[in-house]
Amino acid sequence: MLTPLKVDPTTFDEGSVGYFRYGMVGDKVLLTNDVGEHLFLTPEEFRRFIAGQVQADEPLYANLRKRYFLKRDLDVEQFATKLRRKKAFLQNGPHLHAIVTTLRCNHACRYCHASRTDMTATDTDMSLETARKVVDFAFRSPTPVLGFEFQGGEPTANFPVIRFVVDYALEKNRYENKELLLSTVTNLTLMDEEKMHFLLDRGVSICTSLDGPADLHDKNRGWMEKQSSHATVTGWMDKFNAEWVRRGFDPDLFHVDALMTTTRASLSRGRDIVDEYVNRGIRSLHLRPLNPFGFAVNTWQQVGYTMDEFLAFYRSTLDYIIELNRKGVFVQERLASVFLTKMFTPDDPNYSDCRSPCGSGSAQLAYNFDGSIYTDDEGRMAAHMGNDFFKLGHVDTSSFDEILRHPTVKALKVASIQDALPACHSCVHKPTCGVQPLHNYMFDGDIFGQRPRSRKCQEFYGVQQYLYQLLSNDTDGSLERIFRRWTIQRSRPGTTPYAPASEVTA
Ligand code: SF4
Repeated sequence: MLTPLKVDPTTFDEGSVGYFRYGMVGDKVLLTNDVGEHLFLTPEEFRRFIAGQVQADEPLYANLRKRYFLKRDLDVEQFATKLRRKKAFLQNGPHLHAIVTTLRCNHACRYCHASRTDMTATDTDMSLETARKVVDFAFRSPTPVLGFEFQGGEPTANFPVIRFVVDYALEKNRYENKELLLSTVTNLTLMDEEKMHFLLDRGVSICTSLDGPADLHDKNRGWMEKQSSHATVTGWMDKFNAEWVRRGFDPDLFHVDALMTTTRASLSRGRDIVDEYVNRGIRSLHLRPLNPFGFAVNTWQQVGYTMDEFLAFYRSTLDYIIELNRKGVFVQERLASVFLTKMFTPDDPNYSDCRSPCGSGSAQLAYNFDGSIYTDDEGRMAAHMGNDFFKLGHVDTSSFDEILRHPTVKALKVASIQDALPACHSCVHKPTCGVQPLHNYMFDGDIFGQRPRSRKCQEFYGVQQYLYQLLSNDTDGSLERIFRRWTIQRSRPGTTPYAPASEVTA
């Protein structure tokens, strides 16, 4: 990850060169800056750029200028406006509230992140009284957009709490007037018609887990009943989707979303996984690596892999997704979309795992079944692994201010401001990247982590480097057109494109 092209400080023209980062992509020099602009230069153009030798009448000068790489002629006001917009996610309080309705689950997935208990452990069910306090607490957030997401265990195992929270939040919002987002992560195997209609009637969006074709999915996601989890999951996906159509909703916007987790068995199955998603009408696929959380720590030897192995899988699968797009089949990879949105649009998609500073405790909170409040769902999982460091308080005793000003929240912010982090501060990908201190902690026992050794850094660096590599060879602009399409998020009313579900397994 070291930049092989060295800048000679004696040739640097401080008067004309704006603030930038740089790195090599193939034989080109990639420039990036904090407002999300990028530009490829030849090494000779780069040499002339830093020496202040690019003349005002050259096309390169206009290119550098319009992307804010030149200090001379810089419109500071415009630059500041762009930067403010990029960091707009800092302006509101926590908007994502994950509610663990129960730890009970009828699955025993090989990589489970969710610290499940057996279906008999009803003492891990949230009570209605606690659920009411959670909703009241969450509504204290100043955010104009408020999202509740049900997680577990399998959250529908405690459906009375889902029912209560949905109806209570909808009722409360008649006076609060926030944009209310309701969603549930579910393995769909405890679904029935009555629950389905309740969720659809109230606009609750559904996100399930689908790891690929039946053999792969069922290998990863063991079900206690010994039936095929895949058959049940896809059966309910079809039912939900048909019901949305029957009610007159646009199927491009209203359908069951799904998440996949990459195990060792997935590494040779990229095309099969993409085909499974496309054939089921799902147009957004997140190629998620395993996290070192929960049961996965114990089963890492069987299901784990190196980051190099994952990135090889990612690149070949992304190539296939692009190939489909070139044939007119729209499907996007979600992490690529996050980075591309940062590269090609004035906005940041506010994806919690890829922000600076991170959203733990400030953009999202997680509520355990007993009313304990955590920085996020990863913080709650850490507690189940024996470390309560990320617990911020309890709905019975904590005020909203105490939670937001909690020393742990502050520590997580400090540990995720990339301008001040070794390696990130000078990394060419910093403007479009982000760090998640919880991942560092879970993997290295240290919220700061060590880049480039940290697993998330390797993943994000590898993905961004590959996207830029593809773009640097895009001579006719056809790939950029496909990538720009991936940045258009048509979110339906009541949903958000990057819900925290992206990192949680149902
Ligand atoms: S996390 Fe890694 S890839 Fe991202 S900015 Fe930091 S050093 Fe670069």
